[in-house]
Amino acid sequence: MSPAPRITLYDTTLRDGTQGEGINFSVLDKLRIAEKLDAFGMHYIEGGWPGSNPKDAAFFEEARRHSFRHARLAAFGSTRRANVPVEQDPQIALLLDARTPVVTIFGKSWRLHVTEVLGINPAENRAMIRDSVQHLKRHGRETVYDAEHFFDGYKDDAEHALGTLASAHEGGADLLVLCDTNGGCLPDEVEAIFRAATAHLPAARLGIHTHNDCGLGVANALAAVRAGAVQVQGTINGYGERTGNCNLTTLVPCLQAKMGLQVVADLPQLTELAFFVAELANCPHDPRAPFVGSTAFAHKGGVHVHAVQKLARSYEHMDPAAVGNRQHILVSELSGQSNVLAKTRALGLDLAKGGPEVTALLAEIKRLEKEGYEFEAAEASFELLVRRRLGLHQPLFTLQEYHCNYRRTGNRLYETCEATVKLRVGNTHEYTVAEGDGPVNALDAALRKALRPFYPAIDGIALHDYKVRIIDSHQATAARTRVLIVTSDGYKAWSTVGVSGNIIEASWLALIDGIEYKLADSVPTTH
Ligand SMILES: [Zn+2]
Repeated sequence: MSPAPRITLYDTTLRDGTQGEGINFSVLDKLRIAEKLDAFGMHYIEGGWPGSNPKDAAFFEEARRHSFRHARLAAFGSTRRANVPVEQDPQIALLLDARTPVVTIFGKSWRLHVTEVLGINPAENRAMIRDSVQHLKRHGRETVYDAEHFFDGYKDDAEHALGTLASAHEGGADLLVLCDTNGGCLPDEVEAIFRAATAHLPAARLGIHTHNDCGLGVANALAAVRAGAVQVQGTINGYGERTGNCNLTTLVPCLQAKMGLQVVADLPQLTELAFFVAELANCPHDPRAPFVGSTAFAHKGGVHVHAVQKLARSYEHMDPAAVGNRQHILVSELSGQSNVLAKTRALGLDLAKGGPEVTALLAEIKRLEKEGYEFEAAEASFELLVRRRLGLHQPLFTLQEYHCNYRRTGNRLYETCEATVKLRVGNTHEYTVAEGDGPVNALDAALRKALRPFYPAIDGIALHDYKVRIIDSHQATAARTRVLIVTSDGYKAWSTVGVSGNIIEASWLALIDGIEYKLADSVPTTH
């Protein structure tokens, strides 16, 4: 076993991240993100707040069936309510019901919130913190205490804020996390207050949770690390309320590549992770994001291009490959090749670097990316693309025609759509009609009807999730649609992608990849 890292990472994309406007994850999305975070080497994953919504409780129920290699799963909630014995607090009971190894609870550090907002006295507040931590520890949980508004609270009344922290420590909390909840602090303040808290409780382990309201989420977390923080909380791509949380996709390379603090083993997975989470969040990925943005290592100016080709570090602060990104210059084929080779190797294919297959594949990927394809969150479509290019994939059928209609007459909207599919399997022609709730649903039904006689296994798979993104939205006339579909057989889920100027065609492409991927090795039954 490698020695425990000095700094652990605590990801709250699935809880604090979802407070961000427009960020919404299904239970399946959350599971897939958790798996990806685990593979990346995340130490803690906060899955949600079981007391606040049933979807989060469902996530923990599902997550129990997964075993994570690195990560410990945390459920999030608050301390017990005022004047209620901790054993009788239903929210605390839900936290234990989530049966996670870690429970994180937040409590009030700022006197203003205690007396003005909650309307209770400071002694009861401290009892709430201590009782709750103690109760969770009695139930064998690793307990993280999030000190909400710690920095604002300290500036207002240091003794009070430190007192609440001491209560969590007395209760036996494994970690005390100082939170800049409103995100209004500057790095020098964070560092000084962090040091004061450490001096007050030298035996305690302290972590940091920051927000980006001053554009300093990462800088503030780094300041706390300098002051001795042993854990940093944050989110992928900085998703979160208002201007977001501490962005882990910026923080991790700063810690690891700049400060020499080993935190994760697989830093080169970082860029893919950032894109993956962006796709599932259905958010456009920020091209200018530090380290992981598509332009983070892009060179356009002639002199720069010339110089970086000679010596990359002349205009690059680090090797982009260290974070899984690449230098973007038209002539730089080599880094692109290594990316493709790494992925094809993962599929068990041994292609020669510089060989004609890799060159052709890379050209095809670049063409598709230009059209608007993203393969980071569509691993099944990527695999099919490679297999098709190499002649390793036998298509299940040949499409001759599909058609679907959707009608509105006057005020009447026809809810049901009808679709027809004309295709050939071997020498047999099929022509089917089906109805559905919308055009995609109708097409899916007609396609299944046509394929079922040949591939009965098609009944074991179902469309699980469907996401639509308009790309090139700045040029409205040329807008294209990217559809991401998740198909599942009840055990495993896989993602596919389709891009077109037409939403139906984009959906169709993603739909057939979803089916082809699963049934790829099936031999059609004759009938
Ligand atoms: Zn927060």
